[in-house]
Amino acid sequence: MGLQPIHNFNLRALNTFGLDVRAEKYLKVTTENELEAAMALVALAESPLLILGGGSNLLFTADVSGWVLHIAIEGIELVSTDSDSVLLEVGAGVAWHDFVRYTVERGWSGLENLALIPGTVGASPIQNIGAYGAEISQVLESVTVFDRQTNAYRTFQTDGCDFGYRTSIFKQAWKGRAIITHVRFRLSSRPRLNLSYGTVKQELAAHFPEPWTPANVADTVEAIRRSKLPDPAVLGNAGSFFKNPVVTVEDFMRLVEACPTIPNYPQSDGSVKVPAAWLIEQCGWKGKRVGNVGCHATQPLVLVNYGGATGAELMAHARAVQQSVWERFHVRLEPEVNLYPS
Ligand SMILES: Cc1cc2nc3c(=O)[nH]c(=O)nc-3n(C[C@H](O)[C@H](O)[C@H](O)COP(=O)(O)OP(=O)(O)OC[C@H]3O[C@@H](n4cnc5c(N)ncnc54)[C@H](O)[C@@H]3O)c2cc1C
Repeated sequence: MGLQPIHNFNLRALNTFGLDVRAEKYLKVTTENELEAAMALVALAESPLLILGGGSNLLFTADVSGWVLHIAIEGIELVSTDSDSVLLEVGAGVAWHDFVRYTVERGWSGLENLALIPGTVGASPIQNIGAYGAEISQVLESVTVFDRQTNAYRTFQTDGCDFGYRTSIFKQAWKGRAIITHVRFRLSSRPRLNLSYGTVKQELAAHFPEPWTPANVADTVEAIRRSKLPDPAVLGNAGSFFKNPVVTVEDFMRLVEACPTIPNYPQSDGSVKVPAAWLIEQCGWKGKRVGNVGCHATQPLVLVNYGGATGAELMAHARAVQQSVWERFHVRLEPEVNLYPS
């Protein structure tokens, strides 16, 4: 009978804000054959298309007109091994955290700092997911996509992905054009731990005897994250709503003059990264609730849905936060979360 879209499909379980939004047409694909069949249907209908993974980096600002294509291609394949590394190919629909656990349980190193990030493997290159001093660009080997323009598969090597802080070619020039089907990662087959982030090292030392394993680091990162971040299953959210702004050294000098205690992270190109959470907290938003939405009490960079919120309410809240940070600091906060429709 072939693939059949579901009409007027409720996306509540497929967005971590827990918003009650509907897709005009919804299709889930689990293989490349199904993906190709789906693309033929979408092309016939000529309507807009949203690619969906786990919905953990998306804010639906309205119901979706057109198609939602849910990528659920599974599979983890060991492609090759050498004396000190393994090469893995992973289906875009594999849950990111399940994949991280799969690797650390085998003693492989490279993903342990990225434990418990929600979402799918297929979305991980889009914003070059990162946490606790690590980013996937450090261990990613290639990304295979279905190119909607040519209707053919194409593979990007790491240096063709234009990775940067929470960005890549897939969030910029190829946004909407590339449907990621598989990602390859090269991991170290011996522990090669990245303990650059002070809290991770302290907690690791407090809870595990040396020599530490990648699984020890993943367990530590999970515990830290659970203590700080709201669980979307309990309180709807999409993680950090805004990126940490990167300002010029001149702007930074102006900020320091006004607030000498401002935390800062100098970048290699001379610019300075400033924590968005600190700016938001200084503007009085930490733990502040407005109707059904608010800024989380322990991590104000996380916007939350206390229940029954709409995308429009969350957007209004995000704009109010942006506005007050602009008025107080003259710094623009840019959303990290993808807005749909934008
Ligand atoms: C509690 C919480 C904590 C988080 N912590 C972090 C963190 O520490 N670091 C971090 O970087 N992020 C974090 N995030 C954000 C989020 O988990 C990641 O961005 C994740 O990679 C999104 O995956 P997803 O499958 O849910 O993507 P979705 O939300 O479904 O999609 C995100 C974007 O990618 C596109 N997309 C999805 N899949 C594909 C595909 N196969 N091909 C092409 N385009 C696709 C979508 O169209 C959309 O534009 C957090 C989110 C939450 C809720």
